Amino acid sequence: MADAAPLYETYLRAPLRFVRGEGVWLVTEGGERYLDFAAGIAVNSLGHAHPHLVAALKDQADKVWHLSNLYDIPGQETLGRRLVEATFADKVFFTNSGAEALECAIKTARRYHFSKGHAGKFHIITFEGAFHGRTLATIAAGGQEKYLEGFGPKTPGFYQVPFGDIAAVRDAIGEETAAILIEPIQGEGGIRPASKEFLQELRALCDEYGLLLILDEVQTGVGRTGRLFAHEWAGITPDIMAIAKGIGGGFPLGACLATAEAASGMVAGTHGTTYGGNPLAMAVGNAVLDVVLADGFLDHVRDVALVFRQGLAALKDRFPDVVEDIRGEGLLIGIKTKVPVADLLNAVRAEKLLAVSAGGNVLRLLPPLTVTAEEAREGLSRLERAAEKLTAAVKAA
Ligand SMILES: *Cc1c(COP(=O)(O)O)cnc(C)c1O
Repeated sequence: MADAAPLYETYLRAPLRFVRGEGVWLVTEGGERYLDFAAGIAVNSLGHAHPHLVAALKDQADKVWHLSNLYDIPGQETLGRRLVEATFADKVFFTNSGAEALECAIKTARRYHFSKGHAGKFHIITFEGAFHGRTLATIAAGGQEKYLEGFGPKTPGFYQVPFGDIAAVRDAIGEETAAILIEPIQGEGGIRPASKEFLQELRALCDEYGLLLILDEVQTGVGRTGRLFAHEWAGITPDIMAIAKGIGGGFPLGACLATAEAASGMVAGTHGTTYGGNPLAMAVGNAVLDVVLADGFLDHVRDVALVFRQGLAALKDRFPDVVEDIRGEGLLIGIKTKVPVADLLNAVRAEKLLAVSAGGNVLRLLPPLTVTAEEAREGLSRLERAAEKLTAAVKAA
């Protein structure tokens, strides 16, 4: 064969090879420094090579790497208890990824109704524009044709309604409905926040019909929006919540959190994982919480988010041909652009600033939560230079 490239061609990768990270910076093989406001897609919540995380991982690496869930894993009890104490939840199941956390959430909801004698209640209402992962069930939950095409029949039991349309949700509820699943702010879908009122109405509908409210906080969670979890802004709590990304700070770690009642069907033998909750992951997850739960950390996130918000408002005023809208919460920031988002992504990359594209022609800025005001301003000036060049190109065309 002519082309011996060993990897699946599923990713169109940028021609950049990073070999080292320091805080908000990534360094290439050639020694070039990039300001990383992509953060591994909201994963490197404390930046790169955070000393506390490095020490926790190294320390655990000297002790024991893996035990399996056949035995108690002390780090799981610690991290589980801390998550329970910091949230609505009573119970936690650890996974390795966001999609697996969602799988656990979906199974928990279905099993709840099954255990109450309602095996037929397994339908889950989800939302147009959603993203819940790439397993067969989670692509059905997300409902996006581009991810479903060619993979056989769509896994049954998922029904999409328009995001934000409470009447459509009410209409979609039937005898077989088990749960409603939503991201408080759609991430991949283009940083589209659900309104406070909408989340409150979903909570009320779930209570009215005996449904479980499942939140996907894989991207919005663990401080990203300036609260520990995004649903806190709406003053509601879910019955079940999937988290991942930020909780591992770069180590593969996710979790499904639930109330005792919602988790009541998940008895011995109903679910499992080989790696989930492994000691290395627990050491890092606990270290992430040491930092994120420390006094003043979320205040820092909100303060530096304000620097971004003000800077981006000015950018929108100065470059109306490039910037259409700024959205998001905290350090989950979307720039809806008037040029093709790939052009904006390339233009900022040319200024050595990393960002991520999202649906709806939106550029995502997901800086590490540890970003300083000075680093935020540096990022903003790189964005400004990119916008200047794109404006000149638009004017020349
Ligand atoms: C990234 C993401 C997922 C999937 O997480 P993986 O770790 O890639 O499986 C699910 N939901 C949301 C909202 C995400 O942002």
